[in-house]
Amino acid sequence: MLETTAEVVELNEQGKKGQRVLPAPLAALNRLSWNYWWSWSPDGAALFRDLDPKVWEECEHNPRELLEKISEFRLMQMAVDPVYTRRVAKLAAKFDEYMSGTKETWAAGAVAELTPANPVAYFCAEYGIHNSLPLYSGGLGMLAGDHLKSASDLGVPLVAVGLLYRYGYFRQRLTRDGWQEEHYGEFAPSELSMNPVLDESGAGVTVEVFMRGRNVRARAWRVDVGRVQLFLLDTNIPENDPTDCWVTGHLYGGDRETRIVQEMMLGIGGVRLLRRLGFEPQVFHLNEGHSALLTLELARELVEESGLEFSEAARRVRERCVFTTHTPVAAGNDEFDPTLLDYCLGEDYRRSLGLTRDEFLNIGRVRADDAGEFFGMTPLAIKMCRSTNGVSRKHGEVSQELWRELWPQSTSVVDVPITYVTNGVHAPTWVAPNLRQLYAKYGGKNWAQRLRDPKRWAKCVARISDEELWEAHRLLKQRLVAFIRERSLHAREQRGESAAYVQSAGVMFDSEALIVGFARRIAGYKRWGLLLADTERLLRLITDAERPVQFVFAGKAHPQDQGAKLVLQQLSRWKLDPDVMRRAVFLEDYDQEMARQLVQSVDVWMNVPRRPLEASGTSGQKVCLNGGLNFSVLDGWWLEGFDGTNGWAIGGTTTHEPVETPGVVTAEDMKDAESLYRVLEEEIVPTFYDKDAAGVPRRWVRMMKRSIETLAPAFNSDRMVQEYAQRIYLNNQQ
Ligand SMILES: *Cc1c(COP(=O)(O)O)cnc(C)c1O
Repeated sequence: MLETTAEVVELNEQGKKGQRVLPAPLAALNRLSWNYWWSWSPDGAALFRDLDPKVWEECEHNPRELLEKISEFRLMQMAVDPVYTRRVAKLAAKFDEYMSGTKETWAAGAVAELTPANPVAYFCAEYGIHNSLPLYSGGLGMLAGDHLKSASDLGVPLVAVGLLYRYGYFRQRLTRDGWQEEHYGEFAPSELSMNPVLDESGAGVTVEVFMRGRNVRARAWRVDVGRVQLFLLDTNIPENDPTDCWVTGHLYGGDRETRIVQEMMLGIGGVRLLRRLGFEPQVFHLNEGHSALLTLELARELVEESGLEFSEAARRVRERCVFTTHTPVAAGNDEFDPTLLDYCLGEDYRRSLGLTRDEFLNIGRVRADDAGEFFGMTPLAIKMCRSTNGVSRKHGEVSQELWRELWPQSTSVVDVPITYVTNGVHAPTWVAPNLRQLYAKYGGKNWAQRLRDPKRWAKCVARISDEELWEAHRLLKQRLVAFIRERSLHAREQRGESAAYVQSAGVMFDSEALIVGFARRIAGYKRWGLLLADTERLLRLITDAERPVQFVFAGKAHPQDQGAKLVLQQLSRWKLDPDVMRRAVFLEDYDQEMARQLVQSVDVWMNVPRRPLEASGTSGQKVCLNGGLNFSVLDGWWLEGFDGTNGWAIGGTTTHEPVETPGVVTAEDMKDAESLYRVLEEEIVPTFYDKDAAGVPRRWVRMMKRSIETLAPAFNSDRMVQEYAQRIYLNNQQ
């Protein structure tokens, strides 16, 4: 590694240029603010929030901005507050201990072959590290963020590569008639916890990739995620042609051409950056196919620098690359028109691999010489990696079926060498603070380091009394209701709704009544319409005087998906019905922070994908860590998690017929809808409202406990990263 990377770290201390000098008792806050570790450590977020809650909200939980904007007087007030400064000192000491590596990590014992000198290089098009870093659109990014955090906690040597999207992903707002509008905010790297990577002379490190007939440069930024470094490439620099500044403009925002050049920068530029910084990765992990061009760049190095034939170069590349696929359909978004690819990549690049055009295109095709087939990043990745895995058991099987043609010699689909590693979520990021305290009290202070141990979870859960768990959950629901009211009030005001309607936000929702959450992307297979299949029946559930059901919805439609926007509009019109208004809400602008509020607090989390299109899903895993109950189609992770006592299933396990047109309701959909209503009416509502004299719903709490003890040990990202490290990165079968 370059000396200069270390230098950046030193500059982060009080002396960082332009950084505000804090009063001595608070000085450590600067250091803490430069590493996202604070965001998953106990008291981390609260420490910054308590510095100045109002500014904290205004700057959307960005500690760098908070420290720049907070008033001098407030800062001094806190600097003389001994209780507060003790908290600062305590967290800083923990951080230093975490970073110093004095405690032996899991990786040092279990996967010692992975070393900082030869780390894993992890590539992904999006990262969901924290809300203040809007470089994600949804599940893939969240998963990548959780992967980095667990890698850090476990001490797995890993460096990550991604793109710095200047305009991030869109923010969602609804018009008064329920139509989605997209807004993009530009973010300034200087206001965020990221540092330019500098070279020996103090100049910014850049890489160059030739695309669309021009050299395009990207500078590099570094984000610290605990012990893991995340490098981001950014083409928004004056040396570039103005068009090329937009290569890293929007996440999933542009046309096909933009996608190609983005993926070139990620894959090819990413490898060049790692080289420039002196990393010698032992394994390259392609998290989804967006970065698959990195395999060609590795091959090009071998062809050009060592004079190998492409076939031999490819063989060597394959030994070092592993691929995780996330899509359960062949016609994913990630395939390119060969002509467009020719234009973006250029003939010279292909020649530098020593390939003819057809040979080149065939690497990205399932069927060789099929001129009608586009160049797919999934076939490319599968062919150039030694290992391919899906993200749940079912998704592994679906992928074997989907890509079996790539192994013509496999006689049976079960012989197709695609495995799976089921996704998991990062517990310290997703568990509510008060539950965290319960887990620490009854599971031991180091509960978060022992996530995989089912016995420990069982013991911990057995020690928590029903009353205590229920009380913690009730508090979280009260917080959720306050959140819903505040967000709704604000949104209604912004839309210029009538005063009466704005005011009514203050009485929405009852925290003692059942709350069902449904928050996810608005895409055809997620079947947003399923719940509305029988609106009268649904209304009866919602408006029941004694035992009402309340629904919280949130999610974004892809900007170009008109059908999805119509579904959203239908939903938001329907909720205008006065009977419904108090007990159902659509919250605008689903993001990580909103996800935290929802998954930590709802009673029930609903998911109704068309089987088998939910590759894994992770939001339900966040819910079970918080004692919420899943109510979901048996697909993705839930097919592995559901055991009959820890939540509910919707419908059966048969595979649905593929549906071409989104929004169409098939006979199978109707069957699932029937199952959904029936389980709600006959099981969920009666169990929830069956409270004893003390006001505790015993049967419900028992299910909450089953949910925690059976699901938490299996669906956390420590388990996931350990599996990747042992089975995929090191190729150890065990
Ligand atoms: C966890 C999470 C997701 C992934 O959710 P699924 O619907 O289960 O795939 C998406 N978006 C956000 C903001 C999340 O936190």
